[in-house]
Formats: sequence, structure tokens, C-alpha cells
Amino acid sequence: MKSPQSWLMDETLIKTLLPAPRPANSHKGAFGSVGIIGGASGMIGAALLAGSGALKLGAGRVYLGLLANQPSTVDPAQPELMLRPVDELFELDHLTCLVVGPGLGKEISACLCLEKILQTSSLPLVLDADALNLIAHHSELASVLRTRHAPSLLTPHAAEAARLLGTDIATVQNHRMKAAEDLARNFNCSVVLKGAGSICAFPNGHCYLNASGNPGLSSAGTGDVLSGMTGALLAQGLTSENALLLAVYLHGAAADALLETLAGPIGMTASEIIDSARHLLNQW
Ligand code: AMP
Ligand code: MG
Repeated sequence: MKSPQSWLMDETLIKTLLPAPRPANSHKGAFGSVGIIGGASGMIGAALLAGSGALKLGAGRVYLGLLANQPSTVDPAQPELMLRPVDELFELDHLTCLVVGPGLGKEISACLCLEKILQTSSLPLVLDADALNLIAHHSELASVLRTRHAPSLLTPHAAEAARLLGTDIATVQNHRMKAAEDLARNFNCSVVLKGAGSICAFPNGHCYLNASGNPGLSSAGTGDVLSGMTGALLAQGLTSENALLLAVYLHGAAADALLETLAGPIGMTASEIIDSARHLLNQW
């Protein structure tokens, strides 16, 4: 590895991070409430996938704050998810963390929503997708992000990372560890730079290379699933560093397990990743 501050994420390391076994008298209040903010018109599926990822990775409750006009209040395929217009999520006082970005879009309403969260929320935040693109395009959002006291976790793919760093995708991909470390330092955030060989980097200088995952993950919605999974682990009390490491490894390992079931990577879906990750988490 590059320096004493860098490690390879493998199953032995990751299994030291698992949530504690659940006591017999446990109740949903003990496993946290995740709020997912996103789901603008035409992009509700991204928020639903993040919500499903959070639910099936063990969050006690999952709320979706949707930006779409007059969103439905229930998804018949997943009635456990509580769907709300986004403003109603700001009124809930028992959320444990927020996942902001899946299907958020870049409309002015999305920008104002993100600004309000960054300025007023004291919850741990997972920021993905268009939340990252908005931060890249509005320096005042980046300034607020840098000065937050609660943990912030960024989950960019290479193109999103390039926008955040003001560089191009080739530069990020040719120097992936440096790009992840720069993001963590510049924004004072925990970061996963996604893609084959995801890299997790933290403001304390720690850096990890992920050993799990395969090209079956190169399909729509898998990133949304990762953000929801990360939220679920934060809600269950893991530190931001441990939640991110476990979510990233588990997400890849879930895809590796599916390779055998499906006999290959073709047509692996984001929903299948969620079920496979749930199985592994229970098995470990
Ligand atoms: P996104 O680009 O936001 O949809 O996220 C895609 C997710 O799939 C991330 O967690 C990536 O790390 C993962 N992924 C995509 N392609 C690969 C690959 N070829 N090998 C391993 N992981 C991948
Ligand atoms: Mg994405």
C-alpha cells in the first residue's frame, strides 16, 4: 500500500465493523430513522431504491421526502416506506440521519432544499448524485458544507468527483487515491470515490481501497442503493467511517455473491444487490 495511512478493505477488516447482534427485546426505535431527500419528477425511482436499501439494511424506519409535485404517499411494492412531500420531512424531529441526492435534480427547488439542509440540519448527511453536482456548481453550498459540525459523507463517482475538484474525469481516474484524499481534505468530509476499486478517504488522512465488487454493478440505481445502505448503518449507530467502509464493502460483496447465482454480471439489478446485501449482513 501507498503509505501507513492506507489499507486494503477485505472481509477480515470489515467483519470487525458489524453492528452488534440484536437483543431479543429490540424495537424499531433502537435502529434509527433514515430520511431520504430526492425523488423529483421523473426520478422517484432513485429515491425508492435508496429507501429500499436503507430499509433492508436494517434501519428502524425510512421516510422519503420527495420533491415531485403531489407525490404518492405509498409505494404499493414497498408499503413499509413512508413517502412524504419534502417539506414534511423537515418537521420530523426523530430522524437519525439524512441521505440527500437520489433523484434530487438540479432545479432551483432542489438547490434551496439542499441549502436549507446544509445550513440548518445537525444530522449526519450522506450526499450523493445531484446533491454533489449542486455543491460543485454553487461555491456557497461548498462553504457551508466545509464548516458543518455533524459528519458529512460524499459518495461521488468519477464524473461527480471531477466536478467537485474542478478537474476532468481522466485526471481523477489516473490518480484515484489522490482525488479521494483531496475531496476528504477540501470538504472536511468522509468520501467514497466509487467505481472499480472504490476508495474511501477520511479527513483524518485514513484511506482504504475496496476489494469487493464487479462489473455487474455498472447498472442504473446501484449508486442510489449504496447511499441508502450507508444511511441505514449510520442510523444503527455506526460511526461515519465504519458505516461508509461497511456499506461500500458489503455493496460489492453482494454483487460478488450474485455473480454465482446469475452465472455472470449481465443484467444484475440494483434491487437484487439490496436483497443480496441483506442476506450477507444477516449471515456475517
Ligand atoms: P453510480 O455511478 O452512482 O450509479 O454508482 C455505481 C455503483 O456501482 C458504485 O458503488 C460503484 O462503485 C459500483 N460499480 C460500478 N461499476 C463497477 C465496477 N466495474 N466494479 C465495481 N464496482 C462498480
Ligand atoms: Mg449515482
